[in-house]
Amino acid sequence: MAFENFEIWFVTGAQLLYGGDAVVAVDAHSNEMVKGLNESGKLPVKVVYKGTVNSSKEITEAFKAANNDAKCIGMITWMHTFSPAKMWIHGLQELKKPLLHLHTQFNKEIPWDTMDMDFMNLNQSAHGDREFGHICARMRVRRKVVVGHWQDEETQRKIGVWMRVCAAWADAQDMLIIRFGDQMNNVAVTDGDKVTAEQVLGYHVDYCPVSELMEYHRTVKEEEVNALVKEYFKAYDHAAELENPQTEAYRVVWNAAKAELALRAILKAKGAKGFTTNFDDLGQTDGSYFDQIPGLASQRLMAEGYGFGAEGDWKSAALYRTVWFMSQGLPTGCSFLEDYTLNFDGKNSAILQAHMLEVCPLIAAQKPRLEVHFLGIGIRKSQTARLVFTSKTGNGCTATVVDMGNRFRLIVNDVKCIEPKPLPKLPVASALWIPQPNFEIGAGAWILAGGTHHSCFSYDLTKEYWEDYAEIAGIEMVVIDENTTIPDFKKELRMNEVYYLLNKALC
Ligand code: MN
Repeated sequence: MAFENFEIWFVTGAQLLYGGDAVVAVDAHSNEMVKGLNESGKLPVKVVYKGTVNSSKEITEAFKAANNDAKCIGMITWMHTFSPAKMWIHGLQELKKPLLHLHTQFNKEIPWDTMDMDFMNLNQSAHGDREFGHICARMRVRRKVVVGHWQDEETQRKIGVWMRVCAAWADAQDMLIIRFGDQMNNVAVTDGDKVTAEQVLGYHVDYCPVSELMEYHRTVKEEEVNALVKEYFKAYDHAAELENPQTEAYRVVWNAAKAELALRAILKAKGAKGFTTNFDDLGQTDGSYFDQIPGLASQRLMAEGYGFGAEGDWKSAALYRTVWFMSQGLPTGCSFLEDYTLNFDGKNSAILQAHMLEVCPLIAAQKPRLEVHFLGIGIRKSQTARLVFTSKTGNGCTATVVDMGNRFRLIVNDVKCIEPKPLPKLPVASALWIPQPNFEIGAGAWILAGGTHHSCFSYDLTKEYWEDYAEIAGIEMVVIDENTTIPDFKKELRMNEVYYLLNKALC
């Protein structure tokens, strides 16, 4: 139900050369196909058939209408007959929504015994889609090309992936990320150009002084905090002493709940979809203040879909929101994570992924445990609450966006989460993964590409989602997977450097 307010529009390309009967048949076939796609149960977003377009005027009108309809998050085109592609030039120049070119055919197999010239004239996808593909290539139109019969599950799966990316893309176009405090001083990789981010990726980043957040903190009602603390105890495993209001631990949990309510209130008031925190900026002790970074709140807000980046990392906050949005309804979960420490162990060499506190419980393998421990980092070193768990095992994919100065680069790495050992002295949530194709090449390529120590991880999203995302955004993407070798990867980075210098001149 997450995407029920969105639509993908479907237009069929044809022309009037073949007469009225052909137009009627094209329309009937298109209706049947769209109905079939919607009834397949494989597509997360409803497809709406917007008719057959037979002229430049009709095409341009359809694309302009798509631009102006807030529900429309993408356009599927398919050429039933031959549709001379110069008719598409003005429409494609107008189109601002993501485009998927479906190369399919109404009939699955050739009707060998009955096929005549009328049938040939009507069913011309084989060359009509090439004509359309040519004009897209000639105009450098970014699009996903899906090839396959429309009833085939693999075809529907590919369309479904693209739809989820379109939904997240639409979500990002009015996304507001709030930075509580600034970025951590001197850190390069979490910095970047916020003007270009809004221009290219859609989202807007604002600064909010912690003093303003504290105005919300001051107004949180005691009974609301008491109720939320009860909710914590119901939702998470915990030591019995935590429930004793006489203990310091109870007070620490109570403070964490108050921090969560303050954050929720201000995010709601500002209409923000994500936020960042900074452990050096937590309010003044002579006024209202947080006793430590609001880690438990960040964990819980991430699970609900708020973007989060630690240390002011607004690019990760926005990307995590996108990851969460795309993967709604998928089974296994996602999280903001940080490369924490290395475990050299031959073929099983791996990276422990964690953070001081802020790991999303959606990736937990077991019921998270609410614990209170000392955290000695930041302006206010003190006891603080957090959810502790280890991640599920299995394959996943992690991603980050870095600012290269003249462009954004999306770096994607397939990873394999393996069973960690217990960490009795490090009570934080964590995952342990082997970057693919192995630790040496995976970590080496990531470092060569300039990847952050923060990334946005998901079990359910694959590199195909990221390929669609990079195509829609028009940003560079490099993939590190089972096929990566360091010499080829270095060559790709060097080639991309040249491509992105020339790219603007080409378009
Ligand atoms: Mn960090």
